[in-house]
Amino acid sequence: MTALLEAHDLTRSFEVSQGMFKARRKLHAVNGISLDIRKGEVLGIVGESGCGKSTLARMLLGLLPPTEGGITLDGTDIRSLGRKGMARRVQPVFQDPYSSLNPRRTVASIVALPLEVHGIGTAAERRKQALGILDKVGLPQRFADRYPRELSGGQRQRVAIARALVMNPEVVVCDEPTSALDVSVQSQILNLLMDLRRDLGLTYVFISHNLAVVEHIATRVAVMYLGRVVELAETEALFRTPRHPYTKALLASVLTPEPGQGIPETGLGLAFPDPLNPPSGCPFHPRCPARISQCSTTVPRLLQFGRDAVACHLHDAGQSIPSPSDDGAT
Ligand code: SF4
Ligand code: MG
Repeated sequence: MTALLEAHDLTRSFEVSQGMFKARRKLHAVNGISLDIRKGEVLGIVGESGCGKSTLARMLLGLLPPTEGGITLDGTDIRSLGRKGMARRVQPVFQDPYSSLNPRRTVASIVALPLEVHGIGTAAERRKQALGILDKVGLPQRFADRYPRELSGGQRQRVAIARALVMNPEVVVCDEPTSALDVSVQSQILNLLMDLRRDLGLTYVFISHNLAVVEHIATRVAVMYLGRVVELAETEALFRTPRHPYTKALLASVLTPEPGQGIPETGLGLAFPDPLNPPSGCPFHPRCPARISQCSTTVPRLLQFGRDAVACHLHDAGQSIPSPSDDGAT
């Protein structure tokens, strides 16, 4: 598989004020991530709340510029494509179908809006195209003139998916697309996404805190911790033989079913560290049951093992992937 979307040493920091004196601090939400998304794959990205998944998603969509590093789509720097150029090729599906749909527009006009914004077709042609996409996502024509408030959560998420697909994109970045839905509806939406990928030849980036969901849909998985990718592997290999102690802990734990409701229970004893004050060395070391002496002083590099990669000193025998910004600073 060839790389379609590539992140090169991607970093995003935010200035935040902290404490009584409102001291300005730098938060590294994403810290030196290099990642390739291959044509036709479903790259799952997992990690606890606050690990930088959504920031990474917004950068991959071209909605948030990186502080350092860059992204290419089919070899072209996405900055040269602009927002509109990106929107034709990379589209989002976000978590909350309740807030992401305009309540004053009908379903057909929500789905047709991207075409309108890009000046594609006449109003009649746009409506026809919207109806065709609604059919593809399993919403019969009678839904076309309803308003979002008249739909269930699952139906709204189908509308959001239809809106993403109307531009005929190559990549769809899904950020927790099923997390706000009931469990029974979640699997319907996952199955729909998988059918659409097969029928339309789509590539997905699929972000979730829910490992079971990712195992179901992803072909490859990247595990994130405090802004970094700590393990990358084919889905089956990751779930059968995880290499990174954090991946092992995630797999052994029961994650909370809802995002945004505090720190998932990882069984690791210690809470997720403060991203404003990240630990030295391996960011996972205060919680790691397998840590060794250099873990508190040296940041482990992401090392390649065949097609997989892991960032952990226990696996230092792999082949190093040079990363210019991986100098130990967080
Ligand atoms: Fe644990 Fe050390 Fe590996 Fe980090 S580098 S995951 S602390 S063993
Ligand atoms: Mg998020």
